[in-house]
Amino acid sequence: MTAPLFGVHTDAGRPDFGPGDVDGLADDLLPIVGPRGISSLPRAIDRASRDGSGMSPILSAADLGRPDLVCYPRTVEVVAPIVRAAIRRGVPITTRGKGTGNYGQVVPRFGGLVLDMTSLTDITGITAGTISAQAGARMINLEQAAWNNGAQLWMYPSTVQSTLGGFLAGGSAGTGTIVHGRNHQGFVESVDVVYGTDDAELIHLEGDDAQPMVHTYGVAGIIVSATVRLEPLQDWKCLYASFAEQQDAFTTAQVLSKVEPLPRILSADGPLMAAALPDDPAIVKGRASVRGIFDARCMEQVTDIITTAGGRVEAVRDGIAQSIKMSTLSYNHPTWWLQKAYPGKYFHMECMGDALVDKLDEVQAVYDGGVVHLEAGHGQMFGMANGIFHSPEQVMEGVPALTELGIAVHSPHQWYVDLDADRVKALAAQTDPKGLLNPGRWM
Ligand SMILES: Cc1cc2nc3c(=O)[nH]c(=O)nc-3n(C[C@H](O)[C@H](O)[C@H](O)COP(=O)(O)OP(=O)(O)OC[C@H]3O[C@@H](n4cnc5c(N)ncnc54)[C@H](O)[C@@H]3O)c2cc1C
Repeated sequence: MTAPLFGVHTDAGRPDFGPGDVDGLADDLLPIVGPRGISSLPRAIDRASRDGSGMSPILSAADLGRPDLVCYPRTVEVVAPIVRAAIRRGVPITTRGKGTGNYGQVVPRFGGLVLDMTSLTDITGITAGTISAQAGARMINLEQAAWNNGAQLWMYPSTVQSTLGGFLAGGSAGTGTIVHGRNHQGFVESVDVVYGTDDAELIHLEGDDAQPMVHTYGVAGIIVSATVRLEPLQDWKCLYASFAEQQDAFTTAQVLSKVEPLPRILSADGPLMAAALPDDPAIVKGRASVRGIFDARCMEQVTDIITTAGGRVEAVRDGIAQSIKMSTLSYNHPTWWLQKAYPGKYFHMECMGDALVDKLDEVQAVYDGGVVHLEAGHGQMFGMANGIFHSPEQVMEGVPALTELGIAVHSPHQWYVDLDADRVKALAAQTDPKGLLNPGRWM
């Protein structure tokens, strides 16, 4: 059993069960996946116990759990038999992609089986408007396949090596979100899923039936493959600009977020965070940084906006490698680099609202050493309010002050389902009646 998480959230609603008959399950799985398809070796267990929750000083100090067994399906056909066996043995199943989720949702809270999907990497089809792949396919590989076909994904996360299944189940947004919103807003055309029942089979869900599976952290079904949306490839330019003042950079980013055609990504940082990013002559030390992927058709306008606001265009770069590189400097990544530059010092809160720009100084004053990373979202600015960590209580004490400033706050220091939780709980009650799919995800 895991120790209760300390800090800002209670452990209420935690089901009272252990890992089930793991030895019996190991016997059952041998003929399904072979000896190389399962492991209980310490190295495999350690690897399956980790994710990106190290970004939270609160979650990192907690014992989030460890599996007893890890299973590596190598064909989509074996997923349903694996699930049937685990459910019959009463063993919890935590489905794992690349393990980049940053809230501990891929760490098995009650032990049991980790279903590692990273061997299911096939891209199985591509049309003018969609790409189909197995759940373990990397987002970067889907984007590359799309470019090879004159298309682009509607969106992909800054963790470009993460998996399709993991992004759909645990992620929310990324490069492309300025145009298309979040990943539960029509990105998915269909999914093939396995539910947590003792007669589980592969089930195909399309359109409106597929959407409810998105952002459910593997508690309502295991995504085995999916078809997601593409659009025609645009001529993208990756532009790096710098400003003497953070406020000018943020105000300009807000203006740039509305140029048409809309940018694919748009991020801004003050000098402290910019200096923590990987060395690049286009990210000038001591200056604020604005980075955007812009349609070639609006480059003149973009350059005018930057120079009129007192900024400098430092570089303009082409091609998929540059697009991917710029994406990896967006969303949670600047915070990740900040934490790498100053180990153990900073925490972050996810924030949304134009006050991140309009009341920047006040927002940064909420936390000791406060420093904001800014992103353009779908019609609204959002970002990370980073501060120097003192205690879990201090982290939550800042929330009313941020709210007062007009900012919506989401805490990344929690392990539970937080989007539409009542709906997901009702869905999971149907698709996982024994509560064995990634259990312990309810407040
Ligand atoms: C530095 C950093 C930057 C990040 N940037 C972004 C970003 O730009 N946008 C964003 O949305 N997120 C971001 N994240 C969060 C995370 O990287 C993404 O959500 C990522 O897409 C998750 O994919 P994964 O393969 O690593 O999934 P995992 O971490 O392995 O799993 C995530 C969740 O999905 C479940 N899951 C995994 N695979 C399946 C499946 N096949 N079926 C059902 N459930 C499954 C897991 O049980 C878990 O609950 C970031 C995280 C970090 C640490």
